[in-house]
Amino acid sequence: MRESLARAVNSSDMGMEIYTTDVDLVAAMSAGTHLGSYLLRVRDAGQTEFSHKAMLLLAHKIIKRFRLSRKIAENVAAQALIEWLRPHCRCCGGTKQIIVDKIIPCHQCGGSGVHRFTDTERRVKIGAGGRSVSDGLDYAQRIITQAACGMAVRARARLG
Ligand SMILES: [Zn+2]
Repeated sequence: MRESLARAVNSSDMGMEIYTTDVDLVAAMSAGTHLGSYLLRVRDAGQTEFSHKAMLLLAHKIIKRFRLSRKIAENVAAQALIEWLRPHCRCCGGTKQIIVDKIIPCHQCGGSGVHRFTDTERRVKIGAGGRSVSDGLDYAQRIITQAACGMAVRARARLG
């Protein structure tokens, strides 16, 4: 749990210090939004029961902004969460390299360590495609990033 905020801070790439005490983390959790709290609980504490709540919150925001059915909005939200939770290359696991007699750059991700979600992969998992789905996914990804990073910023401000 302690590492959750540290990762949030690191992912924000804002050069902030890493929190190292339980008191710091509790302050961070109390300073965040519901979505931010759910996201960090799922990603960093393994509390997967919060993933459904996060998905519903995201889907609600998507429906308010885009003309998508509830089912498709929920699928878009779920896809955004999956991409945020599991961004690493499926071949190298994010290490950027593989060992074949010697260590070589991963051929799957080209050494980035990041999985590239294709339009086809997204269309299959979401069950729909098109502009609204694509825009909804972009929107959901922005909300996720803001919620996760926002917790770190607010915690920093609260702790002084
Ligand atoms: Zn790779």
